[in-house]
Amino acid sequence: MTKPVLSIIVPVYNEEGNLKLLYSKFMHELENKIKKPYEIIFCDDGSTDNSWDIILALNAENENVKGLSFARNFGHQKAVLAALEVASGDCVLSMDADLQHPPELIKTFYDIFNQGYDVVAGVRDPDEKISFVKKAFAKLYYYIFPSITGVDAVPRASDFRMMSRSSVDFLVQLKENNKFLRALIPWSGFKTYYFPYKARRRHSGKPTFKFLQSWKMGVEGIASFSNVPLYVSIFIGIIFAILSFIYGLYAVYQKLILQNVPPGWTDLIASTLFIGGLQLIIIGVLGFYIGQIKSQVIGRPDFIISKKLGFDDDQ
Ligand code: UDP
Ligand code: MG
Repeated sequence: MTKPVLSIIVPVYNEEGNLKLLYSKFMHELENKIKKPYEIIFCDDGSTDNSWDIILALNAENENVKGLSFARNFGHQKAVLAALEVASGDCVLSMDADLQHPPELIKTFYDIFNQGYDVVAGVRDPDEKISFVKKAFAKLYYYIFPSITGVDAVPRASDFRMMSRSSVDFLVQLKENNKFLRALIPWSGFKTYYFPYKARRRHSGKPTFKFLQSWKMGVEGIASFSNVPLYVSIFIGIIFAILSFIYGLYAVYQKLILQNVPPGWTDLIASTLFIGGLQLIIIGVLGFYIGQIKSQVIGRPDFIISKKLGFDDDQ
Protein backbone atom coordinates (compact mmCIF):
# COMPACT_ATOMS: atom_id res chain seq x y z
CA MET A 1 0.00 0.00 0.00
CA THR A 2 1.37 3.46 -0.86
CA LYS A 3 2.34 5.55 2.10
CA PRO A 4 -0.38 8.12 2.80
CA VAL A 5 0.29 11.81 2.44
CA LEU A 6 -2.81 12.73 4.42
CA SER A 7 -4.24 10.80 7.37
CA ILE A 8 -7.69 11.78 8.58
CA ILE A 9 -8.39 10.59 12.13
CA VAL A 10 -11.86 10.51 13.66
CA PRO A 11 -12.89 9.67 17.25
CA VAL A 12 -16.18 7.76 17.17
CA TYR A 13 -18.66 7.20 19.97
CA ASN A 14 -22.10 6.01 18.93
CA GLU A 15 -22.05 7.72 15.56
CA GLU A 16 -23.89 5.14 13.41
CA GLY A 17 -26.06 7.87 11.91
CA ASN A 18 -23.08 9.93 10.74
CA LEU A 19 -20.30 7.66 9.53
CA LYS A 20 -21.53 6.89 6.01
CA LEU A 21 -22.29 10.50 5.19
CA LEU A 22 -18.99 11.60 6.73
CA TYR A 23 -17.12 9.01 4.66
CA SER A 24 -18.78 10.08 1.41
CA LYS A 25 -17.92 13.73 2.13
CA PHE A 26 -14.31 12.76 2.90
CA MET A 27 -14.09 10.82 -0.35
CA HIS A 28 -15.43 13.75 -2.32
CA GLU A 29 -12.74 16.02 -0.91
CA LEU A 30 -9.94 13.46 -1.18
CA GLU A 31 -10.65 12.27 -4.72
CA ASN A 32 -11.68 15.54 -6.32
CA LYS A 33 -9.61 18.11 -4.51
CA ILE A 34 -6.64 16.69 -2.58
CA LYS A 35 -5.79 13.85 -5.01
CA LYS A 36 -2.99 12.42 -2.86
CA PRO A 37 -2.59 9.02 -1.17
CA TYR A 38 -4.62 9.02 2.05
CA GLU A 39 -5.89 6.95 4.93
CA ILE A 40 -8.97 7.45 7.09
CA ILE A 41 -8.67 6.11 10.64
CA PHE A 42 -11.80 5.74 12.74
CA CYS A 43 -11.16 5.16 16.42
CA ASP A 44 -14.23 3.57 17.97
CA ASP A 45 -14.25 4.67 21.59
CA GLY A 46 -16.36 1.81 22.96
CA SER A 47 -19.54 2.55 20.98
CA THR A 48 -22.61 0.53 21.92
CA ASP A 49 -24.38 1.04 18.58
CA ASN A 50 -23.45 -0.23 15.11
CA SER A 51 -20.55 2.18 14.53
CA TRP A 52 -17.93 -0.60 14.42
CA ASP A 53 -19.95 -2.64 11.89
CA ILE A 54 -20.11 0.40 9.66
CA ILE A 55 -16.34 0.87 9.98
CA LEU A 56 -15.88 -2.80 9.02
CA ALA A 57 -18.10 -2.31 5.96
CA LEU A 58 -16.23 0.84 4.90
CA ASN A 59 -12.92 -1.03 5.23
CA ALA A 60 -14.26 -3.88 3.08
CA GLU A 61 -15.15 -1.32 0.42
CA ASN A 62 -11.96 0.72 0.67
CA GLU A 63 -8.69 -0.56 2.15
CA ASN A 64 -7.61 2.99 2.96
CA VAL A 65 -10.23 3.04 5.69
CA LYS A 66 -8.76 1.71 8.91
CA GLY A 67 -10.11 1.25 12.40
CA LEU A 68 -9.19 0.98 16.04
CA SER A 69 -11.64 -0.26 18.60
CA PHE A 70 -11.26 0.48 22.31
CA ALA A 71 -12.14 -2.17 24.89
CA ARG A 72 -14.48 0.38 26.47
CA ASN A 73 -15.22 4.08 26.41
CA PHE A 74 -12.09 6.04 27.33
CA GLY A 75 -13.12 9.51 26.20
CA HIS A 76 -12.67 11.61 23.12
CA GLN A 77 -9.12 12.85 23.80
CA LYS A 78 -7.82 9.30 24.20
CA ALA A 79 -9.42 8.26 20.93
CA VAL A 80 -7.66 11.13 19.16
CA LEU A 81 -4.35 10.18 20.81
CA ALA A 82 -4.66 6.50 19.89
CA ALA A 83 -5.30 7.38 16.26
CA LEU A 84 -2.39 9.86 16.25
CA GLU A 85 -0.10 7.01 17.32
CA VAL A 86 -0.99 4.83 14.35
CA ALA A 87 -1.44 7.52 11.67
CA SER A 88 1.36 7.39 9.13
CA GLY A 89 0.65 10.35 6.83
CA ASP A 90 2.96 13.34 6.33
CA CYS A 91 0.13 15.39 7.71
CA VAL A 92 -2.65 14.30 10.03
CA LEU A 93 -6.07 15.90 10.25
CA SER A 94 -8.31 15.25 13.24
CA MET A 95 -12.05 15.78 12.82
CA ASP A 96 -15.20 14.92 14.78
CA ALA A 97 -17.53 12.26 13.43
CA ASP A 98 -20.74 14.27 13.72
CA LEU A 99 -20.05 16.59 10.75
CA GLN A 100 -19.72 19.63 13.00
CA HIS A 101 -16.28 20.16 11.50
CA PRO A 102 -17.05 20.91 7.84
CA PRO A 103 -15.31 18.42 5.51
CA GLU A 104 -15.47 21.11 2.77
CA LEU A 105 -12.65 22.90 4.61
CA ILE A 106 -10.16 20.03 4.26
CA LYS A 107 -8.65 21.43 1.06
CA THR A 108 -8.38 24.92 2.55
CA PHE A 109 -6.58 23.52 5.60
CA TYR A 110 -4.30 21.52 3.33
CA ASP A 111 -3.41 24.56 1.23
CA ILE A 112 -2.61 26.65 4.30
CA PHE A 113 -0.59 23.76 5.73
CA ASN A 114 1.48 23.61 2.54
CA GLN A 115 2.44 27.25 2.96
CA GLY A 116 4.83 25.98 5.63
CA TYR A 117 2.83 25.60 8.84
CA ASP A 118 3.23 22.77 11.31
CA VAL A 119 -0.30 23.08 12.62
CA VAL A 120 -3.50 24.47 11.15
CA ALA A 121 -5.95 24.74 14.02
CA GLY A 122 -9.66 25.40 13.59
CA VAL A 123 -10.99 28.08 15.95
CA ARG A 124 -14.74 28.13 16.49
CA ASP A 125 -16.74 31.22 15.71
CA PRO A 126 -17.35 33.37 18.83
CA ASP A 127 -21.04 33.79 17.92
CA GLU A 128 -21.60 30.07 17.84
CA LYS A 129 -24.81 28.92 19.52
CA ILE A 130 -23.67 26.88 22.49
CA SER A 131 -25.24 26.87 25.91
CA PHE A 132 -24.65 29.94 28.03
CA VAL A 133 -23.12 27.92 30.88
CA LYS A 134 -20.68 26.08 28.58
CA LYS A 135 -19.69 29.37 26.96
CA ALA A 136 -19.20 31.14 30.31
CA PHE A 137 -17.04 28.33 31.71
CA ALA A 138 -14.95 28.14 28.55
CA LYS A 139 -14.41 31.89 28.63
CA LEU A 140 -13.38 31.88 32.27
CA TYR A 141 -11.09 28.91 31.77
CA TYR A 142 -9.25 30.36 28.84
CA TYR A 143 -8.87 33.60 30.77
CA ILE A 144 -7.38 31.86 33.82
CA PHE A 145 -5.32 29.20 32.04
CA PRO A 146 -2.69 31.45 30.39
CA SER A 147 -2.18 33.53 33.52
CA ILE A 148 -1.53 30.46 35.67
CA THR A 149 0.44 28.38 33.20
CA GLY A 150 2.11 30.92 30.93
CA VAL A 151 0.82 28.95 27.93
CA ASP A 152 -1.36 30.74 25.40
CA ALA A 153 -4.04 28.12 24.88
CA VAL A 154 -6.30 29.75 22.33
CA PRO A 155 -9.96 30.15 23.33
CA ARG A 156 -12.40 28.19 21.18
CA ALA A 157 -9.58 26.12 19.67
CA SER A 158 -11.14 22.80 18.78
CA ASP A 159 -9.95 19.36 17.86
CA PHE A 160 -10.40 20.22 14.18
CA ARG A 161 -6.71 20.41 13.40
CA MET A 162 -4.12 19.48 10.79
CA MET A 163 -0.65 18.58 12.06
CA SER A 164 2.72 17.92 10.48
CA ARG A 165 4.60 14.65 10.90
CA SER A 166 7.09 16.30 13.26
CA SER A 167 4.38 17.77 15.51
CA VAL A 168 2.56 14.42 15.64
CA ASP A 169 5.82 12.60 16.45
CA PHE A 170 6.45 15.10 19.22
CA LEU A 171 3.01 14.49 20.80
CA VAL A 172 3.20 10.73 20.46
CA GLN A 173 6.61 10.37 22.11
CA LEU A 174 5.65 12.41 25.21
CA LYS A 175 5.66 10.16 28.26
CA GLU A 176 3.04 12.00 30.31
CA ASN A 177 -0.43 10.64 31.00
CA ASN A 178 -3.49 12.72 30.16
CA LYS A 179 -1.89 14.67 27.34
CA PHE A 180 -3.76 17.95 27.04
CA LEU A 181 -3.48 18.58 23.31
CA ARG A 182 -5.04 22.04 23.28
CA ALA A 183 -2.24 23.36 25.47
CA LEU A 184 0.63 21.06 24.46
CA ILE A 185 0.51 22.29 20.89
CA PRO A 186 0.84 26.02 21.71
CA TRP A 187 3.41 25.12 24.39
CA SER A 188 5.53 23.22 21.85
CA GLY A 189 5.92 26.36 19.74
CA PHE A 190 5.19 24.61 16.42
CA LYS A 191 4.27 27.21 13.80
CA THR A 192 0.49 27.40 13.93
CA TYR A 193 -2.15 29.00 11.73
CA TYR A 194 -5.47 29.62 13.51
CA PHE A 195 -8.32 29.24 11.08
CA PRO A 196 -11.73 30.60 12.13
CA TYR A 197 -14.67 28.43 11.12
CA LYS A 198 -18.34 28.05 11.92
CA ALA A 199 -19.12 24.70 13.50
CA ARG A 200 -22.20 23.04 11.99
CA ARG A 201 -24.99 21.46 13.93
CA ARG A 202 -24.44 17.81 14.77
CA HIS A 203 -25.86 15.75 11.87
CA SER A 204 -27.30 12.86 13.84
CA GLY A 205 -27.34 11.67 17.47
CA LYS A 206 -26.70 13.58 20.66
CA PRO A 207 -23.44 15.17 21.85
CA THR A 208 -21.83 13.20 24.66
CA PHE A 209 -19.47 15.82 26.01
CA LYS A 210 -20.30 15.95 29.68
CA PHE A 211 -19.70 18.79 32.06
CA LEU A 212 -17.79 16.60 34.53
CA GLN A 213 -15.57 15.26 31.75
CA SER A 214 -14.71 18.79 30.61
CA TRP A 215 -14.09 19.90 34.20
CA LYS A 216 -11.72 16.94 34.77
CA MET A 217 -9.88 17.65 31.55
CA GLY A 218 -9.61 21.34 32.41
CA VAL A 219 -8.29 20.84 35.95
CA GLU A 220 -5.82 18.17 34.84
CA GLY A 221 -4.71 20.52 32.09
CA ILE A 222 -3.84 23.21 34.62
CA ALA A 223 -2.11 20.71 36.93
CA SER A 224 0.02 19.33 34.12
CA PHE A 225 1.20 22.78 33.08
CA SER A 226 1.58 24.62 36.34
CA ASN A 227 2.44 24.34 40.02
CA VAL A 228 0.95 27.76 40.75
CA PRO A 229 -2.09 26.30 42.61
CA LEU A 230 0.36 24.67 45.05
CA TYR A 231 2.19 27.94 45.66
CA VAL A 232 -1.10 29.80 46.04
CA SER A 233 -2.33 27.31 48.61
CA ILE A 234 0.91 27.61 50.59
CA PHE A 235 0.59 31.41 50.44
CA ILE A 236 -3.02 31.36 51.62
CA GLY A 237 -2.01 28.91 54.37
CA ILE A 238 0.72 31.25 55.63
CA ILE A 239 -1.55 34.31 55.60
CA PHE A 240 -4.18 32.50 57.63
CA ALA A 241 -1.63 31.04 60.03
CA ILE A 242 -0.39 34.60 60.73
CA LEU A 243 -3.95 35.90 61.17
CA SER A 244 -4.85 33.14 63.62
CA PHE A 245 -1.61 33.74 65.56
CA ILE A 246 -2.51 37.43 65.91
CA TYR A 247 -6.00 36.50 67.01
CA GLY A 248 -4.52 34.09 69.53
CA LEU A 249 -2.36 36.87 71.01
CA TYR A 250 -5.44 39.05 71.29
CA ALA A 251 -7.33 36.30 73.11
CA VAL A 252 -4.47 35.91 75.60
CA TYR A 253 -4.40 39.70 76.08
CA GLN A 254 -8.13 39.68 76.80
CA LYS A 255 -7.78 36.91 79.33
CA LEU A 256 -4.68 38.09 81.19
CA ILE A 257 -4.85 41.89 80.99
CA LEU A 258 -8.48 42.82 80.48
CA GLN A 259 -9.67 39.83 82.46
CA ASN A 260 -13.01 39.97 80.74
CA VAL A 261 -13.09 36.68 78.95
CA PRO A 262 -16.15 37.08 76.76
CA PRO A 263 -18.53 34.21 76.13
CA GLY A 264 -16.58 33.95 72.85
CA TRP A 265 -17.99 30.68 71.63
CA THR A 266 -19.20 32.05 68.37
CA ASP A 267 -15.81 33.54 67.59
CA LEU A 268 -14.10 30.36 68.45
CA ILE A 269 -16.29 28.05 66.49
CA ALA A 270 -16.40 30.36 63.48
CA SER A 271 -12.66 30.77 63.26
CA THR A 272 -11.98 27.09 63.87
CA LEU A 273 -14.35 26.09 61.14
CA PHE A 274 -12.99 28.68 58.77
CA ILE A 275 -9.41 27.62 59.26
CA GLY A 276 -10.37 23.97 59.17
CA GLY A 277 -12.13 24.54 55.86
CA LEU A 278 -9.14 26.33 54.48
CA GLN A 279 -6.88 23.47 55.45
CA LEU A 280 -9.14 21.02 53.70
CA ILE A 281 -8.91 23.07 50.50
CA ILE A 282 -5.16 23.16 50.69
CA ILE A 283 -4.89 19.46 51.49
CA GLY A 284 -7.22 18.85 48.55
CA VAL A 285 -4.90 20.68 46.19
CA LEU A 286 -1.91 18.74 47.50
CA GLY A 287 -3.85 15.50 47.23
CA PHE A 288 -4.78 16.25 43.65
CA TYR A 289 -1.16 16.69 42.66
CA ILE A 290 -0.22 13.50 44.50
CA GLY A 291 -2.96 11.73 42.54
CA GLN A 292 -1.43 12.98 39.31
CA ILE A 293 1.98 11.67 40.39
CA LYS A 294 0.41 8.35 41.36
CA SER A 295 -1.22 7.79 38.00
CA GLN A 296 2.03 8.69 36.26
CA VAL A 297 4.05 6.30 38.46
CA ILE A 298 1.63 3.40 37.97
CA GLY A 299 1.95 4.06 34.25
CA ARG A 300 -1.41 2.51 33.38
CA PRO A 301 -2.15 3.04 29.69
CA ASP A 302 -4.42 5.90 28.65
CA PHE A 303 -6.54 3.50 26.59
CA ILE A 304 -6.79 -0.19 25.64
CA ILE A 305 -7.15 -1.19 22.01
CA SER A 306 -9.08 -4.44 21.56
CA LYS A 307 -9.25 -4.54 17.76
CA LYS A 308 -7.28 -3.13 14.85
CA LEU A 309 -8.51 -3.07 11.29
CA GLY A 310 -6.61 -2.38 8.09
CA PHE A 311 -3.15 -2.02 9.66
CA ASP A 312 -0.27 -4.34 8.75
CA ASP A 313 -0.20 -5.76 12.29
CA ASP A 314 -3.97 -6.41 12.40
CA GLN A 315 -5.23 -8.21 15.50
N1 UDP B 1 -16.43 11.08 21.25
C1 UDP B 1 -15.60 10.01 21.62
N2 UDP B 1 -15.70 9.54 22.90
C2 UDP B 1 -16.55 10.06 23.82
C3 UDP B 1 -17.35 11.17 23.44
C4 UDP B 1 -17.26 11.64 22.14
O1 UDP B 1 -14.82 9.51 20.82
O2 UDP B 1 -16.60 9.56 24.95
C5 UDP B 1 -16.31 11.60 19.87
C6 UDP B 1 -17.64 11.80 19.15
O3 UDP B 1 -18.05 10.63 18.46
C7 UDP B 1 -17.31 12.95 18.21
C8 UDP B 1 -16.30 13.77 19.02
O4 UDP B 1 -15.73 12.88 19.96
O5 UDP B 1 -16.67 12.49 17.03
C9 UDP B 1 -16.93 14.99 19.69
O6 UDP B 1 -17.97 14.55 20.53
P1 UDP B 1 -19.35 15.33 20.67
O7 UDP B 1 -19.88 15.69 19.33
O8 UDP B 1 -20.21 14.46 21.53
O9 UDP B 1 -18.91 16.61 21.49
P2 UDP B 1 -19.10 18.18 21.20
O10 UDP B 1 -19.40 18.38 19.75
O11 UDP B 1 -20.19 18.60 22.10
O12 UDP B 1 -17.78 18.77 21.56
MG1 MG C 1 -20.06 17.36 18.27
